[in-house]
Amino acid sequence: MEIILFGAPGAGKGSQAKLLSQNYNIPQISTGDILRKAIKDRTELGKKVESILQSGELVPDEIIMQLIEERLEQQDAVNGFILDGFPRTIPQAKALDELLNKKNISNLHVIMLNVDDELIVKRLTSRRICESCGKDYNLISSPPPADGKCEVCGGNIISRPDDNETTIRNRLKVYYEQTSPVVDFYCRKGNLIELDGSGLVADIYKELIRHL
Ligand code: AMP
Repeated sequence: MEIILFGAPGAGKGSQAKLLSQNYNIPQISTGDILRKAIKDRTELGKKVESILQSGELVPDEIIMQLIEERLEQQDAVNGFILDGFPRTIPQAKALDELLNKKNISNLHVIMLNVDDELIVKRLTSRRICESCGKDYNLISSPPPADGKCEVCGGNIISRPDDNETTIRNRLKVYYEQTSPVVDFYCRKGNLIELDGSGLVADIYKELIRHL
């Protein structure tokens, strides 16, 4: 099962990817998570990309493709994977096509989650995550414990540095300019499934499974 989860920042790709990953026992591959880990670990890559993530712009395609190529080589991805936050540009989508052709993968499911911009801003400004294990919280729909410590691992619960309104609006602008053309790319190929991403995670997931 090879799946791409597509949609604007805050559309719910990560939440759906986690559920799909458990259900099909295939890894969630989030380029954003890989980059944030590099920043946290202070690696060379992390230092190079930190200010880019902070501003909401996109990391260069060559860097992203190298990360993806390495990740797809790992053993846990041989039976399938869920791509979350990749591809985000036409060159990335074309490079992915070539990579999948080489691996003889032709049955790619591309899921598009549609959510209104103002709901996205509301969701992301109230999103919180555990700094250690990455568990998602939301001040409105799933508030973190009152002591500010993660209920799973006890880590600190923080707001992502790029979840402030100025950066969120820039991420949306970047999405419409550079990423939404990728939707047309997959639409023309005929393997795009569009879903309304504005409801509850569990309801959207049911709909998603029905389509798959
Ligand atoms: P995300 O966690 O998917 O919202 O990504 C957070 C940030 O990481 C984005 O705003 C970009 O700066 C960077 N990023 C993640 N995935 C990509 C990608 N496929 N191409 C370029 N930049 C990316």
